[in-house]
Amino acid sequence: MRERSSSHLIDSYGRYMKKLRLSLLDACNFRCVYCMPEKAQFTPSKDYLKTEDLLRIVKNFVSFGVEEVRLTGGEPTLRKDWLVVAQKLSELPLRKLGLTTNGFNLHKSIEDLSRTQCQYINISIDSLRKEKFNSITRRPFYDDVMKSIFMAKEFGFNLKLNVVVMKSVNDDEVIDFVRFSQKYDIEVRFLETMNIGVARPHFEKWFIPAQSLINNIEAHFDWTKRDREADDTAFCYDLSGGGRIGFIASESQSFCQGCSRLRLDAKGVLRPCLFKEQGLSFKDISLEDYPKALSETMRLKPIEREKELAQPMYQVGG
Ligand code: SAM
Ligand code: SF4
Repeated sequence: MRERSSSHLIDSYGRYMKKLRLSLLDACNFRCVYCMPEKAQFTPSKDYLKTEDLLRIVKNFVSFGVEEVRLTGGEPTLRKDWLVVAQKLSELPLRKLGLTTNGFNLHKSIEDLSRTQCQYINISIDSLRKEKFNSITRRPFYDDVMKSIFMAKEFGFNLKLNVVVMKSVNDDEVIDFVRFSQKYDIEVRFLETMNIGVARPHFEKWFIPAQSLINNIEAHFDWTKRDREADDTAFCYDLSGGGRIGFIASESQSFCQGCSRLRLDAKGVLRPCLFKEQGLSFKDISLEDYPKALSETMRLKPIEREKELAQPMYQVGG
């Protein structure tokens, strides 16, 4: 890996922004109850960054020190050229290229994707029971998602499943997910419901701290805690007998102090933080203006976790 080429991605607290969440679009074909209203408003596709602009901006960020890129959205695989984006970004000197997806489309392109450098796939699945899955996502695509999970495993991707845990909705499946992880040797990551967007009115009712899941799992399984990098959002345990469980405790154990993430939304606005609606557009700026714009973005980056965000996750790029 090359040396960092500049200090424009280091903020005043010494945090180095090496990871970029790249939202390809805000549209989605699911309506997960904690993320999107049934009647969601999406950006008109003419306002999304054009492919060449998107690729140029990411390439420039990489020249300034970004080392990891994750494609997200909305649902990134709904963008017609998402695979081309993955192929083109594979030419950059990245340490990691990943994709976070609802899994609906993935199985159709998995072979092509396996030939790219995009090898870190997170698939969201909040229930292993078809009816409940359909009621959480408000769409009947359980079989497609399962197919994508097993194909991604078969093709040897570095695969993780994201499970948003909600009290009295799917918390009764935590042990089933742990068994699933053991049985198929697939990492499962439990996400605390975040106080964001459409989840806010339900937050008190749904929220369960990661520690209470840990207590429950520890009563049934042996596991060993893994070492954690300073900027890891998850803390993980290896299950004896195979499988791995991670926790993203964004609410109860926020990880802002070690944050290394920037987010580029689908229109080309670079946000310093998930919780900051302010950001700077990189759509039309020239390379000479990057240092100033990046430094300005760094200046906006908070050190403490904001309590909530009105804007829904799908608009920011989760
Ligand atoms: N559509 C893709 C997917 O669902 O994986 C990518 C975008 S989605 C916004 C990214 C991740 O954010 C998903 O794992 C989703 O479960 C999570 N997410 C969305 N809203 C959330 C909330 N209020 N609390 C916790 N996680 C949330
Ligand atoms: Fe779509 Fe992902 Fe939001 Fe679900 S979490 S509605 S799949 S963007």
